Amino acid sequence: FDSKLPHAGTTIFTHMTVLAQQANAVNLGQGFPDFDCDPELLRLMQEALQSGHNQYAPMAGVPALREAVAQQIQALYGRTYDPGTEITITAGATQAIHAAISALVRPGDEVILFEPAFDSYEPAILLNGGKPVPIRLRAPDYRPDWDAVLAALSPRTRAILINSPHNPTARLWTAEDMQMLAEVLRDTNVVVISDEVYEHMVFDGKRHESVARYPELAERSYVVSSFGKAFHITGWKIAYCLAPRALMAEFQKAHQFIVFCTHAPSQHALAQYLPCGAHLQLAAFYQQKRDLFVNAVANCGLRWLPSEGSYFVSASFAHLPVLGEMSSLEFSEWLTREIGVACIPLSAFYHDGFDEKVVRFCFAKREDTLHEAARRLQRLS
Ligand code: GLN
Repeated sequence: FDSKLPHAGTTIFTHMTVLAQQANAVNLGQGFPDFDCDPELLRLMQEALQSGHNQYAPMAGVPALREAVAQQIQALYGRTYDPGTEITITAGATQAIHAAISALVRPGDEVILFEPAFDSYEPAILLNGGKPVPIRLRAPDYRPDWDAVLAALSPRTRAILINSPHNPTARLWTAEDMQMLAEVLRDTNVVVISDEVYEHMVFDGKRHESVARYPELAERSYVVSSFGKAFHITGWKIAYCLAPRALMAEFQKAHQFIVFCTHAPSQHALAQYLPCGAHLQLAAFYQQKRDLFVNAVANCGLRWLPSEGSYFVSASFAHLPVLGEMSSLEFSEWLTREIGVACIPLSAFYHDGFDEKVVRFCFAKREDTLHEAARRLQRLS
């Protein structure tokens, strides 16, 4: 069979989660909380289910939710998105990114992305006949190289995919990065797709640099964010996309034929829940988990890299005798089986498997889970 995605297998997240279950390991691999969401949100969901919100939502999403999103974005980043024409509620952020790429990319169009990159970006480009143009970010800083971006731009560049706070490296783009991005794109028609699903998880008093803060960028951008990440409901698969009117019109042409609309009851529940401002607690909530975990594993023998945002922290094992000879995938599998803690190899986020012997851990877990993982990781030292 002539596959459109000949190199795609099972995702690394599924692979490591299955292995974690088989090995009875603490699963710090796939990124999802092991605790439940706010009971108030569950109550609102039950209310929505029992109030007859059980048929199709409008294609762009329930108006009250789009309204609530517009208000939140205005309060956070000072940009007004018209709930009527510039916001779409999607079936998760992965679907939003896929719809944006489907709306933009013609066969042969190039899309610039930064590796390590979340694993859905490249297949979405390929499925639409596009050509991924990866720019490599390197440990330990993972800073974008703006000369490399300039060199990667071509008359065929249709879009550039960016992601801050960054999965998997937990690094943030700075205001200077945003200004550089605006500068290099100034005389082009390149569209920005900005994956901001970890926008509320930014630590140590730092600021999330949403493209929505930068009018020159926002004019040419799709901004994607996620209720799943913000409210501990990754299983609800509900997110949203923002864009200026003309770009959003194109997005919706694709979106309506991919899913038409998304799950109605959860949209009604979230419309009620959003104004309570739970997202404002998230940075402190996850910073505490990061600190607890990082302190507990500080002396286990791995070399920990900074986590500025997201709910991930990475570590290098390259210096360890014998273990340092393994690939990141081998080390992740070994750690899961022998130490009982699952993680994700960063090599899985590079198209060519580029391997700097760094692995990612998710700290969106209960305190007892983090303590147990730390206790097991001490066996490395
Ligand atoms: N976004 C999460 C992660 O990076 C989960 C992704 C997935 O399972 N597709 O781990």
